[in-house]
Amino acid sequence: MRTLHDAGRAGRAVVTGGAGFLGSHLCETLLARGWQVVCLDNFLTGTPANLAHLMGRPGFELVHCDVTENTHVRGAVDLILHFASPASPVDYLQLPIETLRVGSVGTERALALARDKEARLVLASTSEVYGDPQVHPQPEDYWGHVNPIGPRGVYDEAKRYAEALTTAYRSTYDVDTGIVRIFNTYGPRMRPYDGRAIPTFIRQALAGEPLTVAGDGSQTRSVCYVADLVEGVLAMAAADHPGPVNIGNPSERTVRRIAEDVLAATGSASPIELVERPVDDPEVRRPDTTLAAAVLGWEPRVPWEEGLGRTVEWFDAALSASA
Ligand code: NAD
Repeated sequence: MRTLHDAGRAGRAVVTGGAGFLGSHLCETLLARGWQVVCLDNFLTGTPANLAHLMGRPGFELVHCDVTENTHVRGAVDLILHFASPASPVDYLQLPIETLRVGSVGTERALALARDKEARLVLASTSEVYGDPQVHPQPEDYWGHVNPIGPRGVYDEAKRYAEALTTAYRSTYDVDTGIVRIFNTYGPRMRPYDGRAIPTFIRQALAGEPLTVAGDGSQTRSVCYVADLVEGVLAMAAADHPGPVNIGNPSERTVRRIAEDVLAATGSASPIELVERPVDDPEVRRPDTTLAAAVLGWEPRVPWEEGLGRTVEWFDAALSASA
């Protein structure tokens, strides 16, 4: 099996979902490192505005397409980062069939492209495959605690299926694949209304509105700054490890503490308001990143205060520009 690591050079990458939050940062970093990048996106939850600064750059191509219908790409491809999928609960609860289809049919098309081009494919899986975990922190060999018919099942099971399919393409067709299980990531280009805790809190704090904390806020999250996530994904792309490998930041905080830190970072005097907890909302979430450190030499570097500061700065500018 040929690996990018052996090749030791930049090549041509296809990023599905490249107009989304994580995908746009991946496109940007790959281009900066000398890669040619083809982004495939149907703008279901992403937007070409996330890539506006890359348009017209030599080596960058944006193709408007639904990867459940078409993943045809002309010419050589060395790497596929399969990131297309609604990712926030607000999105996948509104788009249940689209979420299941992109995780199943979309993943199979991406894998078929990898097989055809003899490219390495990295699948963006998720910590949600662990469901509401009974093992804490979560190592990769924990099988998870998922309710297939709960509201979140459309996302969790799509990703579990995508992992199984990726593994089957590797064992059956010898496709060079890697699976990353991404834990909650935050940073610039998240959408203010995507429903995830950090953009919601920042938007509310900047607008002087109450910060809506679910339940009593004692549930925990471990959040990773997007620049660290990009390094982890690209380390997986350059490795020949099949994964799954957890990519996330193990430093764990309660949701209430995250809200308080957002208040401090924005200098907002907004109150905290406790609201109803969503169904099947996980109680705890924290990656065991031992494997990522061992096989990828990766660990998160950006401290929470710094990542939060950069994110608040971006939201402040983006929200002022759109006001
Ligand atoms: P996002 O919604 O910002 O980006 C997803 C992108 O996929 C969007 O641009 C959307 O338009 C595109 N897309 C969706 N369906 C498509 C289709 N059928 N054809 C083509 N494009 C399609 O979400 P994100 O936060 O950037 O997440 C990207 C990936 O990372 C997802 O696969 C998600 O499951 C995974 N992930 C993200 C996180 C996180 O914290 N952000 C955590 C775990 C896993």
